[in-house]
Amino acid sequence: MKKLIFIFILWNLFFVNSTRAYNWPVSPFDSQHTITATLGEYRSGHLHVGVDIGETNVPVYAIEGGTVAVGNDPTCVEVGRFTYCHITLEAEVGKSVDAGQEIAIITGTHLHLNDNAGAANPLAGLSPFIQSFLW
Ligand SMILES: [Zn+2]
Repeated sequence: MKKLIFIFILWNLFFVNSTRAYNWPVSPFDSQHTITATLGEYRSGHLHVGVDIGETNVPVYAIEGGTVAVGNDPTCVEVGRFTYCHITLEAEVGKSVDAGQEIAIITGTHLHLNDNAGAANPLAGLSPFIQSFLW
């Protein structure tokens, strides 16, 4: 039984993460960018649900394709499984965009990125991402 659990953990670490790898939403897509906040950080009364990428005044590109949607907060846009915040929208709401298509400009101090699949950690899929700190 212990052997099975060990194999399951290894499978999750290497196989699951590698199959859901995706490009960064800022250019260059295949280089690591600075992470200024991680998933689950405590913020006066709530937890940070997403990661912050320390870039500003640069375009945001859709990680995956989907329909462009905005909710109550006009500085956030949702495309496919991801939500991008602290942006000014460039893509048209209700239209479909492809992965890699420019959808917005970061107009805040950073890009907030959410994986809408529950409280999944977007860092797990960003390729490459090298964890250089403990959490
Ligand atoms: Zn954030």
